[in-house]
This record gives sequence, structure tokens and C-alpha cells, in this order.
Amino acid sequence: MIVDYHMHLRDEAGEIKFVPQAVGPFVETALARGVNEIGFTEHVYYFRQTAEIWDVPYLSERCNHDLDEYCDAVIAARDAGLPVKLGLEVDYVGEQQDRLAELLEPYPFDFRLGSVHWLDRMAVDMSPGVWEVMTVDEVWQRYTDALCELAVSGTVDVLAHPDLAKIFGRRPQPSLLAELHERIALVVAAAGVAVEVSTAGLRKPVGELYPDADLLRACVGKGTPVTLASDAHEPGLVGADFDQALAHARAAGCETIAVFESGQRRVEPLG
Ligand SMILES: [Zn+2]
Ligand SMILES: [Zn+2]
Repeated sequence: MIVDYHMHLRDEAGEIKFVPQAVGPFVETALARGVNEIGFTEHVYYFRQTAEIWDVPYLSERCNHDLDEYCDAVIAARDAGLPVKLGLEVDYVGEQQDRLAELLEPYPFDFRLGSVHWLDRMAVDMSPGVWEVMTVDEVWQRYTDALCELAVSGTVDVLAHPDLAKIFGRRPQPSLLAELHERIALVVAAAGVAVEVSTAGLRKPVGELYPDADLLRACVGKGTPVTLASDAHEPGLVGADFDQALAHARAAGCETIAVFESGQRRVEPLG
């Protein structure tokens, strides 16, 4: 079994279009690349149902789509027999995490990704963002704190791009990095959430898969299940570079893949 459980529904022009017809091209690419099932995971801040949470212009400016329309589009495609799951990419929002979960509660997601993109209302994955005001060590410490908090929040099923803080290739000293990796692996295993192996980092300045081999090996060694992810924002990127993702997962000792249905997780043989 091969899944791609991280992508954003867009039409061929790259525009947001939450209609069942937009799903088809994503499925076509998936099947052509040997991916058996895909999961759509739109950013939570695009939906006006979550408007009360956002106070950063980048997020509130985008918060004008309808969550029901998104869910209905994916569900209609699934009901028509396409191998798609309904997910959402949920941001770390600190003290508002429970409130955000409450707003999402009525919706029938198969799974929820958890992502740390923001610390103190500054972006980790944009420049200058956090990098202007925090040292590299501080960013990594704070990022790790946030990721661990999100993992144990009980509001997400899979941690997306688990070491996103390396996006610009900035890492702390090896000893601190090793310590943070170990802490993430321990907390994630105790929390019982899965982690994704994402090829998106190959297309970012760092030019590497998420997460690092060390972190992935530590997670898999502690029994944490994995999913695979392209983070495609266009149909052509579904399953992109999955040969590398599979090799990375296998090298870390991973032999199974997590599959989600209505919030329930099972594992199947990888590949
Ligand atoms: Zn993300
Ligand atoms: Zn994403």
C-alpha cells in the first residue's frame, strides 16, 4: 500500500476550487505513479468557519472559503468511487488548539494533519519570519516545544513535515539537534500519533526529505507509524519523488504504512 496523505485541492490553473471535478487530475497522477490512495488536507485557515482563531494578516486574509463546500467536494469524489480520503492540515495555535478542534468537530475527517508553521505569530517557513528575531537554536527549541504540544493535544492524527524548521538549511549544533530529535521521537510515540515522510522539502531551499533520517529512525524504532506525503499544491506533484520517500522510510526500518478511515488508523504493508 502506498498513500499520499498531504495535498491541497486546486484546479489546473492553481486556483482554489472546491468542486468534485477538481479531484480527478490528482487521482490520475496518483494512479500513474503507483499511489493507491490520496488524502486531501487543505489548510485550516482557508475556512471562514475558523475565522475567530486568526489574527495574523497572512492567515485572516485567506480565511474566506467554505469548509462545507470543501468537505462536500472530496466526499462526492469518494462516493463516486475514487480512492480519496478527507483530511485537513491543522495549524498549531497554542492555547486556542482546543477551541479550533471544537470548531472542526462537526466535520467527518478521515484524518487531521498537525503542522507547526507559526511561532508567536511569525512564520517558520517564510523569510524573514521567526528568523529575524530568534537565534537558530531558539527557533528549533520553540519549534520542538510547539510540535510536542501539538502531538499530545489529542487533536491531530499525523504530524506533517516534522522537522520543518530545517526548511532554509539552518540547524542547531549536532548535539542539540540530536537531543531535540530524541525528545520529538519520545513524545510522538507516547502521544500515539503518526509522522509523515514528506518529499516537499526536496523542493525547498534545504533540498531534503522531511524528516531527517535520525529522527525518522528514532520514531520508527519507538513504534510510530508513518504516512507518505507530497504536499502537492497542484495535481502534477502528487506522489512526486516517492521513490526517495520509500527508500528513506525503508532505510529507517519502516515496513508498514498508516491508513486512515473516519478517524480510525490501521497499518498495512508498505509498498
Ligand atoms: Zn504545511
Ligand atoms: Zn500542506
